[in-house]
Amino acid sequence: MKLPITGGCACGAIRYQSTAEPVVMLQCHCRDCQRASGGASSELVVVPKEAFKVVKGTLRFHASPSEAKGMTRRGFCADCGSPVLGLPDAAPHIAVIRPGSFDDPSSFKSQMDVWTCDANAWDRMDPALPKFEKYPG
Ligand SMILES: [Zn+2]
Ligand SMILES: [Zn+2]
Repeated sequence: MKLPITGGCACGAIRYQSTAEPVVMLQCHCRDCQRASGGASSELVVVPKEAFKVVKGTLRFHASPSEAKGMTRRGFCADCGSPVLGLPDAAPHIAVIRPGSFDDPSSFKSQMDVWTCDANAWDRMDPALPKFEKYPG
C-alpha cells in the first residue's frame, strides 16, 4: 500500500494519515459494526496506533463495551457523522480505520471475516476467506 495512507470524512473537517502499512485488513460483522456502519459489516484496516495521526479536525467518540476487554471507542466526524476510527481498550497499540474513507480506497483487500455469529442472512461474504465466529485465533 502506498504510504502514507491518507483519508478523511465526507465533509472534509477530519483528515488523517497512517505512516505504516496495515497490520491486517478484515471485515467485522458484529452488531456494533453493523450499527456504526449502517450496513452488513464494517471494512476495517488495522494500523499501529503510533503511526496514526489525525492531522485536521477533532473526532467525537462513542464508547461501547467490548467482549474482549473494556470499551471500544469509535471516533466519527461530529459535522457529517462519517465513521473514521476505532480504538479498542483490548488492543491499545492499534488504531482501526475505514478504507471507504481513504483517498485511495482501491488498495483494501480483506483477509478474513470476524464475528460471523452476528452476521445477517442478507450479508454476503467471500467464501474463500477465513471465518471466525468471534475474534480470530
Ligand atoms: Zn465530516
Ligand atoms: Zn465489529
